[in-house]
Amino acid sequence: MSEGNPILHQNLDRVRERIHNAAETAGRSPADVTLIGVTKYVKPPQAAALKMAGCVDLGESRPQQLWTKAEQIPDTNWHLIGHLQRNKVRQTLPLVTLIHSVDNHRLLASLEREALEIDQRVDVLLEVNVSGDTSKHGLTEDELPRLLEKAAECSRLHVRGLMTMAAREGGPAVAQRNFSALRMLRDQFSDQVSPNIDLKELSMGMSGDFETAIAEGATMVRIGSLLWEGC
Ligand SMILES: *Cc1c(COP(=O)(O)O)cnc(C)c1O
Repeated sequence: MSEGNPILHQNLDRVRERIHNAAETAGRSPADVTLIGVTKYVKPPQAAALKMAGCVDLGESRPQQLWTKAEQIPDTNWHLIGHLQRNKVRQTLPLVTLIHSVDNHRLLASLEREALEIDQRVDVLLEVNVSGDTSKHGLTEDELPRLLEKAAECSRLHVRGLMTMAAREGGPAVAQRNFSALRMLRDQFSDQVSPNIDLKELSMGMSGDFETAIAEGATMVRIGSLLWEGC
C-alpha cells in the first residue's frame, strides 16, 4: 500500500460522511465528534498513510505498537485505547495525547507519579465496563465514584471523560443501552467539583456501532476495520 492509496482515501471519506450524517441526525454538530483511526491491524507505513490522508488522531490498543508507530509517525495525536500495564507507563506517557483505558487505583497512582516526574499533564479517560462482559477490562459502575475521588487527588492527571466498549453480543439494541448507560453515568457525575475532572468526552463506538454511539452522545469514535477494508 502506498501513501496515496485510493481505497484508504475512499474508506476515510465514507466513514467521515457517515459520522457527519449520524451527528446531524442526532441534532449534534459533526465537529463535536472526533474520529480516531485505529491502526492496530496495520504496519507503520499504512498507519502513516492514514495520517497523510488527514486523520491526525490515531489509536493503538497495545502500548508497544503505539511506541513503534509514534516514533515513526510524528505530529499525530496518539490515543492508547487498550489496556496499559503499569510497567509500560513510563515509556508510554511522553508519546500519548490521551489514555482511554484507566480502570484502577494502582494505574492511576503510577500515572500520577510518572506525570510528576516528567512534569507533564496527563489526559485520561476512565474505562467503564457497562456491558458487564467479564472478558472486558474496565471498572464496574459501582467502582466509578471511588475512582473519581482518587483521581481528584491526582493533580497532574486530567480526567476528561469516560470510555466503554459495547457488548459483543446482542446487536444494536444492546449497544444502544450500553452507550446510553455510559452517558447517564457521565451526566450523574459531571457536576463533581474538582479542577482536574471534567467529564466532557465520551469515547464509545467502533466500526459496527459508531452511529448508535453518536446518537447517544459519543464525542470520540474509535474506528479500525471500516478504514482498512480492501486495502
Ligand atoms: C480494535 C478496537 C477498536 C476498533 O474496532 P473496529 O471494530 O475494528 O472498528 C476500537 N476500540 C478498541 C478499544 C479496540 O481495541
